[in-house]
Amino acid sequence: MFVDSHCHINFPGLAEQQTAILARMKGAAVTHALCVSVNLEDFPQVLAMAESQPNVYASVGVHPDHEGIEEPSVEGLVEFAVHPRIVAIGETGLDYFRLTGDLEWQRERFRTHIRAAKQACKPLIIHTRAAAEDTLRIMVEEGAAEIGGVMHCFTESLEVAQQAIAMGFYISFSGIVTFKNALALKQVAQAIPLEQMLIETDSPYLAPVPHRGETNEPAFVRHVAEEIARLRGISVEEVGEMTSRNFFRLFKAAA
Ligand SMILES: [Zn+2]
Ligand SMILES: [Zn+2]
Repeated sequence: MFVDSHCHINFPGLAEQQTAILARMKGAAVTHALCVSVNLEDFPQVLAMAESQPNVYASVGVHPDHEGIEEPSVEGLVEFAVHPRIVAIGETGLDYFRLTGDLEWQRERFRTHIRAAKQACKPLIIHTRAAAEDTLRIMVEEGAAEIGGVMHCFTESLEVAQQAIAMGFYISFSGIVTFKNALALKQVAQAIPLEQMLIETDSPYLAPVPHRGETNEPAFVRHVAEEIARLRGISVEEVGEMTSRNFFRLFKAAA
């Protein structure tokens, strides 16, 4: 069994075919998925998905790539997070790749999410791109280790992974780990403890090999598990079982 720890099945391209997506998950032994919120405007749809499907969970948060939209407050996030189907705060973090210029607002928003996660007692889903140093610094400054969470769609170095793990965070691998040229990332997937690892699709983006270029979906998460199994010389069942167990431990979600 496999769990997709990070997907966006409410996005156009996936939202229209919800029934088929859930059926294909079942066919691929993907038992659960976490539908991750990226803004407050679409949060009602994300929550509705988790309320209508017993094997879909949801998070609440505002993605660092979204500028000039409704800004979340600590109190607002905590209020949403009380809902039993909301298992995490995010996705949040820093992205200096997509956006440039004065990104102090991104760092402030990230701090807001960490404070909310600590208050709500729900783990963080952290997105970091071209900003590892600031991401780790803010995690330390805000005491993110008190609540923990996951570094999602991980593409950073082993050193960054180890620093996050030291703060009680899990490392989540997406389809990128299946890409032929992702050699450094494959080494991270070999090196970190299986007990700290999650798998995800980040669908509809980043479809793994052999589906590259297609619309990604939760059923494809087993290809991520297959690649990690190959890299570590263990069975895909073991990767599935461990990462699923890690998922339920981190998010305290009922299976
Ligand atoms: Zn992300
Ligand atoms: Zn995402």
